[in-house]
Order: sequence, then C-alpha cells, then structure tokens
Amino acid sequence: MNQIKSIPRREVKKPKPPLKCAVVISSTRLTPNMQRVVLGGPDVAGFTPDRAGANLKICVPPAALTPNAFRASLSDNSAAKILRTFTVQSSDPVRGTLTVDFALHEPVGHAPAGDWARTAKPGDFLGYRGPSDKKMTNFTAGTYILHADMTALPAIGAILADMPRTAAGHAFIEITHKDDVQNLDAPEGIKINWLVHPDPSKPSTQAIQAIKALSLPDSLQVAVIGEHTVVADLRDYFLKQVGLDPLQNYISPYWKIGLKEDEHQILKKSERD
Ligand SMILES: Cc1cc2nc3c(=O)[nH]c(=O)nc-3n(C[C@H](O)[C@H](O)[C@H](O)COP(=O)(O)OP(=O)(O)OC[C@H]3O[C@@H](n4cnc5c(N)ncnc54)[C@H](O)[C@@H]3O)c2cc1C
Repeated sequence: MNQIKSIPRREVKKPKPPLKCAVVISSTRLTPNMQRVVLGGPDVAGFTPDRAGANLKICVPPAALTPNAFRASLSDNSAAKILRTFTVQSSDPVRGTLTVDFALHEPVGHAPAGDWARTAKPGDFLGYRGPSDKKMTNFTAGTYILHADMTALPAIGAILADMPRTAAGHAFIEITHKDDVQNLDAPEGIKINWLVHPDPSKPSTQAIQAIKALSLPDSLQVAVIGEHTVVADLRDYFLKQVGLDPLQNYISPYWKIGLKEDEHQILKKSERD
C-alpha cells in the first residue's frame, strides 16, 4: 500500500538532480492574489505527464543575468541560488508545458519568488528541479477533512481531483479576497468552505475552529497544508488527540509568517529531530 508523504519523515538523502531552465510561455492574474505562470522551453518538453500536485523546486534568477549566464549558473555549485518550493498545478505533455500558481503576498520587494511571479512575462526564465512524486495518492477513507490556504490551493486542487468520486467530507480553504475562489474538480460529497482572511501576514484561527467543531467519523483521512501555525495546531489535534496515523494522512506546513523559506526549512528540520 502506498504511504502518504507526511511528517515525521526520515529518508536517506538521494543526490539532487541538476537544475534545468524553464521559459515563461504566459503569465496571467488568475484571481486578485494568484498569478498563473505557464512554463515551457526545451528542458520542460520532456516533463513527466500527470504530476499535478507534485512539488517543484524553483530557482529565482538574479535580475541582472542574461538567459545564457543564468543557465550556466544553474550547474555551478559555487553560485549562490535562491531556491523556493512550489507545486505543479497542471502539466501538458502535448504542449510540453507545466503550470505553477504563485500566491501573491505583501510587501512587495521582500519575497523573491512572489516578486518574480508578480511581474513575470513571456520570455522570462527561471531554474527548476523536479517534480517530486504526487503527495496523496492512497485514498482509503469514506470521509475526508481538508485544509489549505492560497499557497496550498494547487496541491489541494490536485488532491480533490484525484479522490474517488464517492468521497464525502469538508474542505476549508482560506483565501485573501472573496474573488480568489477557484473552480475545483471536487467530488460532489465534499463541501468546500471558502474562508476569507484578508491579511495572510497575520495569524488566523478560523479554519482551526471550524475543523475542531466537526464531529468525526471512524473512517477519516485528512490533508492539512498551509501556514505553519495553523498546520501545527491541526497536526497536534489530528495525530495526538484524534489518533490518526501520520503515514496515512498528508499534513505539511508550506510557509511560516515572518520566515523566509530557508529559515522555515531549518525550523521544520529542528521539529523533526
Ligand atoms: C511543498 C510546498 C509546496 C508549495 N507550493 C506552493 C505553490 O504552489 N504556490 C505558492 O504560492 N506557494 C507554495 N508554497 C509556499 C512557498 O514556498 C512559500 O510561500 C515561499 O515562502 C515563497 O517564497 P518567496 O520568495 O515569495 O518568499 P520568502 O522569501 O520565502 O519569504 C519572504 C516573506 O514573505 C512571507 N510569506 C511567504 N509566503 C507568504 C504568503 N503566501 N503569504 C504571506 N506572506 C508570505 C514570509 O513569511 C516572509 O516573511 C509551497 C511550499 C511547500 C513547502
């Protein structure tokens, strides 16, 4: 039986595959706080199909570098790199493209990936490595509870699309503005609750309260992804109080208020050790 990648997770580290170069095919403001960037080019053309929901490491290019100089820097281990983790929203093996949705956040000028996406235009480029495997593929429960914020919308969208159509339950998705709602391919029995949290740089407890107010069935799986504090609270609830198996559920903090991704990775590692 497949196990869902969750925390805690201890794996033997494999050597990292090389960074490749992707070119922006299109960049559109999907909703007020989400930028959809379609990536292509020769390196992406061989992309493995059907990996919606998988992780992708991106390497944000320094402003001054030409495409050729940037491409050369990707294989230069001594060159400093800005690496961030994103999700494959969808991939198109026929066109040779992959799509990434970037949640935009304030203030502008302090977040390399978000700032890059905000102004991305056709012909721009970035480095990437991946994708990983899909995160949740083993659906065994009758009822599901899901939580995501805007950074986890692509991942939760893929999980909802992959679920058996007979699945029932609740999804609580936190968005920055009411117009950030997206059409998701979800089973009819999953009730999607959109929660507006206008300032993601401030903590939010509404998803925690809504989820803890639910009565829980015997056969339950959860996916909880988003800001660290919310995910940590719900991780304690589901794993320690409810007693769910961490290997059969996907619970993963994607970012933390006040921390850059590198700092957040260090915190996550210290929590696992
Ligand atoms: C497995 C995984 C998959 C992910 N997939 C996606 C994805 O598909 N789309 C996506 O948008 N994000 C995704 N994220 C989250 C993304 O990696 C982080 O938001 C990351 O910090 C963005 O990098 P940055 O350079 O914009 O900001 P950083 O330089 O990392 O951070 C700068 C500042 O911005 C703050 N910040 C970061 N993200 C947000 C936010 N969303 N709202 C408010 N403040 C924020 C930080 O707390 C920090 O203070 C994913 C993370 C993981 C671990």
